[in-house]
Amino acid sequence: MALTEPEPARLVAIAVHPGVRRMVAPNPGPMTYHGTNTWLVDEPDGLTVIDPGPDDPAHIGAIAASGPVARIVLTHTHPDHVAGAPALRAATGAAIHGWGAPWAEGFVPDVAIEDGAQLGRLTALHTPGHASDHVCFALGGTGVLFTGDHVMSWSTTVVSPPDGDMGAYMTSLRLLLGREDTLYLCGHGPPLPDPRPMVRGMLAHRAGRESSILAVLARGTASVDELTAAMYAGLESHLLGAAKRTVMAHLEKLEREGRVERLDDTTFRLRG
Ligand SMILES: [Zn+2]
Repeated sequence: MALTEPEPARLVAIAVHPGVRRMVAPNPGPMTYHGTNTWLVDEPDGLTVIDPGPDDPAHIGAIAASGPVARIVLTHTHPDHVAGAPALRAATGAAIHGWGAPWAEGFVPDVAIEDGAQLGRLTALHTPGHASDHVCFALGGTGVLFTGDHVMSWSTTVVSPPDGDMGAYMTSLRLLLGREDTLYLCGHGPPLPDPRPMVRGMLAHRAGRESSILAVLARGTASVDELTAAMYAGLESHLLGAAKRTVMAHLEKLEREGRVERLDDTTFRLRG
């Protein structure tokens, strides 16, 4: 269910929708695909820049050269989205707008926004789960939703405790399913048209993982390592850490729901 694309051009703003351009940062990697998408949204008072990306002088310089910047907004405070924000603020004088506390990574925006906040044509939609401070932004009247890392077109998102919260993430996915957006512009990966089938698939994927965990625990007490081994047989070793954190995220959700209990830091059993 993932979309792929050839490596995009760097340091150029590519039009993807009327009044919306994309610039892909030079930070490709196993968690970032070709790199972080920086989005440039035209407003009467200048550009709204969504997610400046990493602190790369050439990338930040290319954003600043794309037009007067009216404001900088953050989908969340993970470094691949926010590290370049201070340099862009220094280059443009624009203030940084992001979710109020708590912050996933300790980065404090200049202006704390709340659910429903209006920033130019953008409306903020709090979508915790991937990060506690995650916000999506709806572009009024267009069907466009900037989804950050909550929904990515190229991959399922990482939900890593303690800041990542599986229950909140699934609730935030259901929130998107209740909306009528027609085009998701994600933090990584190409634009995603007709997004609802993918969101439904992501929810089903997580529900399937949860069922697998419950099925293993139905056979007896198990550790996070044992559960991960049972569910991700044959996984490449460099992905094992992320898989364990995902299993832990599911266990914490099930524990909060009173469906499993924790015997020690990493050992769980069904509650019954
Ligand atoms: Zn992130």
